[in-house]
Amino acid sequence: MDAKDLRTRLLAHTQVKANLFDSTRFLNMCRLGECPRKLAQEMLSGVEPNDDLKVRLWKTQQAEIDLHVRLEQILGKNYIGPRPIQGMDGSVFGYTDGECKGILLKFKSVPDDEALPNGRAPNNHYWMTQALMHFGRYKKCIIIYESRTSGRIRTYEHNYSPEIGKECEKKAELVISAVKQGKLPKCACGKCNSR
Ligand SMILES: [Zn+2]
Repeated sequence: MDAKDLRTRLLAHTQVKANLFDSTRFLNMCRLGECPRKLAQEMLSGVEPNDDLKVRLWKTQQAEIDLHVRLEQILGKNYIGPRPIQGMDGSVFGYTDGECKGILLKFKSVPDDEALPNGRAPNNHYWMTQALMHFGRYKKCIIIYESRTSGRIRTYEHNYSPEIGKECEKKAELVISAVKQGKLPKCACGKCNSR
């Protein structure tokens, strides 16, 4: 074994460890704030993340696993770990990052302080928590952001909005029925054609 060999083996191992979402099998409910055309496109043709992205994803997942451990330590038996959530006969899929006394918890590990949201969670993340609350039947969600550079933490609270929940479901229906027909729905972001 030499240095180059060890590096290759370590990277290959890490790439396998990263938990990748199979976008051709399910619609990821955490992304229902995004453009329906983009989501349908990814379901139809799949996304093959490159090796750099896979190891970066692992760093994010590692940071989130560490948050599970710390929450377990501070919340004790009131903390229930992550669980999958399905909707619409299993065609929509997502994960919680845990729950405490009926409150949904969602984590977002971000690379640095600049990526920490200021004042409120970004719109896509707001939709993510609404979709999870809708399909997972929660009334409240706390989203936790942590900067991997400084360890700074920000938290935001979202209450379930039945209107946005319904919007999430409508968008999921639109994407899934388009994919079944092998078609793409209309672009809502204005960027799909330039991609
Ligand atoms: Zn679009």
